[in-house]
Amino acid sequence: MKCPMCEHPTKVTETRSIAPQETHRRHHCHKCGHKFTTIEVIAEKVSGKLKAPPPPKTHQWRKPVKAAPSPYPTPAPTPLPERKVRAEDLLEAKRLRDSLEDY
Ligand SMILES: [Zn+2]
Repeated sequence: MKCPMCEHPTKVTETRSIAPQETHRRHHCHKCGHKFTTIEVIAEKVSGKLKAPPPPKTHQWRKPVKAAPSPYPTPAPTPLPERKVRAEDLLEAKRLRDSLEDY
């Protein structure tokens, strides 16, 4: 399959069988780096009659949305109250750990 961005032949990097008769293929263009997915289905299943297969659907993987920088200053982190570890708590934690290891 040719890259929709630069028309360079692409390589299939991943093939997934989503349903018994539906296959998703992940393509990678080594010329421009574009990545896209095609969905392969049986033409008769889609149209009900034998017709020319539909053009392959391309699916864009969504890029993570970056949050806009806040116009307000970031509040200083609230310090957590100091926690005192007691010897009894440590012994209790060890006892629980030991009892879990029995499983
Ligand atoms: Zn390309």
